[in-house]
Amino acid sequence: MGRFADVIVDISHEKVDRPFQYIIPVSLQESLEIGMAVNIPFGMGNTLRKGYVIDITDIPNFDVNKMKEIHSLVEQGVTVKEDAISLAWWMKENYGSTMIAALKTVLPVKTKSKPVVKKFLCCQVSPELALEKSEEFLKKHQNAKARLMQELATQQRLPQLLVTGKLHIASSTIKSLENAGLLSIEEESSYRSALPKNRDERWQQQKKKILSTNQQRIVEEILQSYEKGIRETYLIHGITGSGKTEVYMELISHMIEMGKQTIVLIPEIALTYQTLLRFYQRFGDKVSVMNSKLSPGERSDQFEKAKKGEIDIMIGPRSALFTPFTKLGMIIIDEEHEASYKSETMPKYHAREVAKKICEMKNASLVLGSATPSLESYYAAKENKIKLFPLKERLAGGNLPHVQVVDLREELKNGNRSIFSKALRAQLEDRLQKKQQSMLFINRRGYAGFVSCRACGHVMKCPHCDVSLSEHRNGQLVCHYCGFEMPKVTKCPKCGSKYILGFRAGTQQIEELLQKEFPTARVLRMDADTTQNKNSYEEILSKFANEEADILVGTQMIVKGHDFPKVTLVGILAADMSLHLADYRSAERTFQLITQAAGRAGRSSLPGEVVIQTYNPEHYAIVHAANQDYENFYEEEISYREVMMYPPAAHMIAVLILSQDELTGVAHSKELADYVKQTFAEDRPYIIGPSAANVGKISDVYRNIFYIKHTKYAKLINIKNAMENFIKEKEWNADTVQFDFDPMSAY
Ligand code: ADP
Ligand code: ZN
Ligand code: ZN
Repeated sequence: MGRFADVIVDISHEKVDRPFQYIIPVSLQESLEIGMAVNIPFGMGNTLRKGYVIDITDIPNFDVNKMKEIHSLVEQGVTVKEDAISLAWWMKENYGSTMIAALKTVLPVKTKSKPVVKKFLCCQVSPELALEKSEEFLKKHQNAKARLMQELATQQRLPQLLVTGKLHIASSTIKSLENAGLLSIEEESSYRSALPKNRDERWQQQKKKILSTNQQRIVEEILQSYEKGIRETYLIHGITGSGKTEVYMELISHMIEMGKQTIVLIPEIALTYQTLLRFYQRFGDKVSVMNSKLSPGERSDQFEKAKKGEIDIMIGPRSALFTPFTKLGMIIIDEEHEASYKSETMPKYHAREVAKKICEMKNASLVLGSATPSLESYYAAKENKIKLFPLKERLAGGNLPHVQVVDLREELKNGNRSIFSKALRAQLEDRLQKKQQSMLFINRRGYAGFVSCRACGHVMKCPHCDVSLSEHRNGQLVCHYCGFEMPKVTKCPKCGSKYILGFRAGTQQIEELLQKEFPTARVLRMDADTTQNKNSYEEILSKFANEEADILVGTQMIVKGHDFPKVTLVGILAADMSLHLADYRSAERTFQLITQAAGRAGRSSLPGEVVIQTYNPEHYAIVHAANQDYENFYEEEISYREVMMYPPAAHMIAVLILSQDELTGVAHSKELADYVKQTFAEDRPYIIGPSAANVGKISDVYRNIFYIKHTKYAKLINIKNAMENFIKEKEWNADTVQFDFDPMSAY
């Protein structure tokens, strides 16, 4: 047992981002362990601060006479396991953040909640005697006592809540029977459940499906190499409905047979009642779930159950990665291309990469699944770093829908300036007549306002960066990558048309338009505004599933979740919207969105139709999405990334400089970028910027950005470390510089 503890203080500041050594007081000599949360006196005033012990040693770092003592353990504190501490170091190093921010990330549940205690009344006499007593009480007109003894005669053990509630028996009555030695009160502590409270008859175990030959082959290959001790990353590339989830479940059941546990990541938005139900039907109480709707007590209990091995499967979004399983066998990431797997706060980690690290540390395998794999994963598969399994056909019947691409430029030429093309309007009418359902999809980022010509489709682009310019409120067109600016144009530079405008159309306008054009149609709308309540998301979807509406209008939210067998038409109103965001991933995202939205049509025996409206029918993302042709999309996209040195062909850090003062922000970002240019001139990093960020100011904080590209990730880590030191030396306020490796979106 050491005498000194290295403690990371719970203050997010570069200056204190190192371990501080403390004396372990005698009272804690026996109990203190690495990873525990402690209270420590800190700074000049010796204010008590929270911190985490990351090492215990016998060797003092400095004069013991000057060393302070740990004050106490944090009550209800959660201990960080040693492997989680090394994971935190890894994250700090790879993504750039303070150690305390990394520790807090690997410890999503920070306080232990007290367990729920249930009381039970237990009969202390034989059933015969209990009945006898009951009759005696009845004769004395002590009806409550009589009833309780009668119940206890048949049940022997009753929950106290049932007795005081349903049976209307007062606590004083219970007390007096307890005093008479007829019953005893037992306490039982139990964990809170994370499953829905009201579970209907569907929440029963169901027989598993018999896997198709393709599904079976995937399961066998993964398991055979697992049994040989091979730990790998696998990518299942299969359209929605091709049976990926069924494969995951089969893998999990074999993991359970081997005594291993599994973490299943699902994007929060797809983590619906239905998903959970499906895992429950197969695995019952072995499943638990993490999501943002759980109370702190419920969250804490799920992690406790995981630690104790009382569950085998944890389903959840990103943070479920940090479930403290002791026998982890596998991590599964469904819809691995989803942007929500990237953290937006420091450390800005990607769940896929952290999962890979966890798998290495815990000797587990990683399974990724997607209908539209990320460029990252497919690139790795092409380089034989991960193993690819295609799943081609839909299993529950239903063919791929027929796709029609409508050129909106032609519509305008023909005098149609409505947001609905002629073709789409005709199809909508047809579905209303046939009493089938339709979904209309519009991009949430529609408001981002790229400027395009309605006549020829020309998009205003930065001459230096190959990204679209954004219209700012002051009327300037700005490049968010290099800061290039130009005044707003009134005429299309290509065709001279005056219909060159920033694109603005939201779900609400579409809903109103539908009501005007199809007065009898029942329309539901789903977007950020209509889903602010906890349950509204589920409610809207189940209303639609119950056919209480004919048309569902929504943002990307509607492309996930429920199956709607009656949906035979999907309209994508402006497929270009995500195409021209000032973002190198915009083509990839457009392809994903169209493919997924299209996958919503024709999920049953009724044939499906998809109408894609666009100003760029010839754009490769749209052409390949319309053909459901991932392979060719990938080839074109990856060559663009290679030419432009964008991930995954190369790597990139976004360096975001936050400042209260506008000029300081500009000066600091320039100083930092210049420092990198000079110091690393030999490594030839490719630096873009600095410029004002896309959103130049948030809550009065100015945002400046620059990007550094290099083919080697490790080189970027060196540069990041050097920048951290530079910031420390300059004594800049540390929180003001944020790093984002291989960013998922533009700043
Ligand atoms: P994905 O996860 O790829 O979207 P799912 O696993 O959800 O696919 O499967 C889609 C549908 O096909 C589900 O209704 C599922 O029950 C059904 N299904 C999957 N595998 C089989 C199988 N082997 N036999 C019969 N039905 C299957
Ligand atoms: Zn530019
Ligand atoms: Zn034009």
